[in-house]
Amino acid sequence: MTRRRPKPPPMDELTYAQYQGWACCWCGTSLWTPEGGLSVGRSQGPHSTSIEVYACSRLCPQRPDKTPARP
Ligand SMILES: [Zn+2]
Repeated sequence: MTRRRPKPPPMDELTYAQYQGWACCWCGTSLWTPEGGLSVGRSQGPHSTSIEVYACSRLCPQRPDKTPARP
């Protein structure tokens, strides 16, 4: 069973803390915890750049879990 992973927000929608990997890319929760953040992929930026972004957990309340499965 393949579960689609929601795509992180684009780089221009990230706050400074989210950009730095200090905050959840979806809900903005600080990731200064013993567990740290969970890598959720790469945020797409201009000029084919991308950065790795993190979420607070797999159960992030703001995570867009219901992404349409259409191409
Ligand atoms: Zn979160």
